[in-house]
Amino acid sequence: MSLLIKNGTVVNPAKQQHEVADVLVKDGKIAAIGQNLSADGAEVYDATGLIVAPGLIDIHTHLREPGQEAKEDFHSGTQAAAAGGFTRVVTMANTTPVVDNAALVRGLKKQAELTGVVKVEFIGAVSKNLEGKELAELGDMAEAGVVAYSDDGHYVESAAFMRRALEYSSMFNKMVIDHAEDISLTKNGHMHEGFVSYEMGVIGRPAVAEDLAVARDILLAEMTGGHIHIAHVSSKNTVDMVRRAKAKGVNVTCEVTSQHLSFTDEYLREYNPAFKMAPPIRSEDHRQALLDGLKDGTIDAIITDHAPHAFEEKDHEFCCAPNGFSGLETSLA
Ligand SMILES: [Zn+2]
Repeated sequence: MSLLIKNGTVVNPAKQQHEVADVLVKDGKIAAIGQNLSADGAEVYDATGLIVAPGLIDIHTHLREPGQEAKEDFHSGTQAAAAGGFTRVVTMANTTPVVDNAALVRGLKKQAELTGVVKVEFIGAVSKNLEGKELAELGDMAEAGVVAYSDDGHYVESAAFMRRALEYSSMFNKMVIDHAEDISLTKNGHMHEGFVSYEMGVIGRPAVAEDLAVARDILLAEMTGGHIHIAHVSSKNTVDMVRRAKAKGVNVTCEVTSQHLSFTDEYLREYNPAFKMAPPIRSEDHRQALLDGLKDGTIDAIITDHAPHAFEEKDHEFCCAPNGFSGLETSLA
């Protein structure tokens, strides 16, 4: 059984390849990549205008199962992933109930295998019920197969708690993924604080809220040796701090969403809740710094932070609508 994929833009990181070409697949393996390939009896697929690449992996997704299936579930979320080119997604722990124990991880893995159309990996919570008070079952969840820990959606407010989380997680060789927003500065805010938010009369979430949280957690990673991974960086100072920390040898990595690379707060002028997210899309100077960070390797990964809501939840007055952006189907494009 052969498949000939014609005229797609082949993106092949292994060979630094990015060009229009044909791909011949024989018995499930890539047999040739080149120009004007032909193969007798092969099924031909015209991929003109499409990208042909290895299956993408999204390390930051919210599939919403268990408990919030009106927004998304393993089946619908993984279908969206497949449509967007992803063959594996990693889902966050801020579900109902929170994924903070091994029994739940084991059950959810089975469920995702049954109903998912691409592979699903799990991130366990750092703290029980995301409350930032008591550590979740970090060791047991590691045994059950979680790939990292995160209270994503919530900032770990206590520095002492984050210190312990970094110490314990390193015993299991796993990173802590940091939703870095000092909530004392972001409370009641709905978008990036700056010129556009002032003009619109909307309360903002200043970039310095992220900077403060990132500075603290880089220092704690340096102190403990634990691996801190900064989720969805959005601020230019964050990029600078991560760049300097990496140069110093601190165990820090970070990621950026495709929406923060593509959009600015100018898109919010119509009060469109589809563009409302946390951290918010910011001004052009921040966006340029994110692109620079991506190019020089400071930023390690592009993620979707796919965080869907039911239509009736998002279809609200701007300030009442929840934060979250659906990205799985559109991020590569
Ligand atoms: Zn987050």
